[in-house]
Amino acid sequence: MTNRRNFLRNASFLVVGGALAGKTGSANAILPVATKTNAKNLGLQIYSLGRELSPDVPGGLKKVAQMGYTSIELAGYSSEGKIGGTPMADFKKYADDAGLTITSSHLNPPVRGPYTADNLGQIKDFWKKATDHHAAIGVKYIIQPGQPATRSVEEVAYVGEVFNEAGKIAKAGGLVWGYHNHSGEFARVVPGGTEPVTGRVGRNAPAGIEIIYDGLLKNTDPSLVIFELDVYWAVMGQQDPVAYMKKYADRIRALHIKDVAVLGESGMMNFQKIYEVAYANGIQDFYVELENYSGGTQFEGVKGCADYLLKATFVK
Ligand code: MG
Repeated sequence: MTNRRNFLRNASFLVVGGALAGKTGSANAILPVATKTNAKNLGLQIYSLGRELSPDVPGGLKKVAQMGYTSIELAGYSSEGKIGGTPMADFKKYADDAGLTITSSHLNPPVRGPYTADNLGQIKDFWKKATDHHAAIGVKYIIQPGQPATRSVEEVAYVGEVFNEAGKIAKAGGLVWGYHNHSGEFARVVPGGTEPVTGRVGRNAPAGIEIIYDGLLKNTDPSLVIFELDVYWAVMGQQDPVAYMKKYADRIRALHIKDVAVLGESGMMNFQKIYEVAYANGIQDFYVELENYSGGTQFEGVKGCADYLLKATFVK
């Protein structure tokens, strides 16, 4: 994979050089599709394309590659081994044909209520099957994006144990298990609590109060569980994603690059700082995520995000 990446990077550099010299056409003509794009490392969470991708997955993935994306993170796994209705082996072939690497996948165990000893077996069975399915197409990460019930310090600790079990199963299958946040994880919980505590915590904070996200970090084994930080949802949780990346440099190993809608348009996200710290931490996996876009098709919005990152001098 490294060789292929290096090849693409070097080959793409030639295209950039060709463009500068006014020879884009001739350079493009001799290069495969993927190398027509920029050499930057850009990942896309395919959830961003919603229903627009499913009518033509092969064609849609080619469009994604042409926008400049180099890798994708799946969404829509079902335990029959399909991604949004497409068998995973077929999806992998379509990605290969487009020149995209599938590096990650988002999926949730089928347990809606609190995690307990009674449903632990069901959760473990889910991850076992999911690990087998994903190992077969060679992804790096399987990542849970759904927050389980975490209403007390004790419940957070138990969820951490369950995450460790999931991590063991993934690791045994050659994968890395991870957790992706929204904003709810930045609420606080107290020992014996019955619901999360939101808002500011003053000097009279109850003993043992903790931010759920910090509790999940504390209660998971670094050798079994990585964290994919969604930088936008951290901000929506009134936390600084950069501070978290600095504090947990060895735990936060992948990022969701997200804004209100198209990247950079809201002006509220400091992507330059986020990328600087990510590179300093050795993070290699970045996934653009687009939600709530109403300015055109989702493909157009996803292209707008790529254009922003391709133009940004701080993105490598
Ligand atoms: Mg996200």
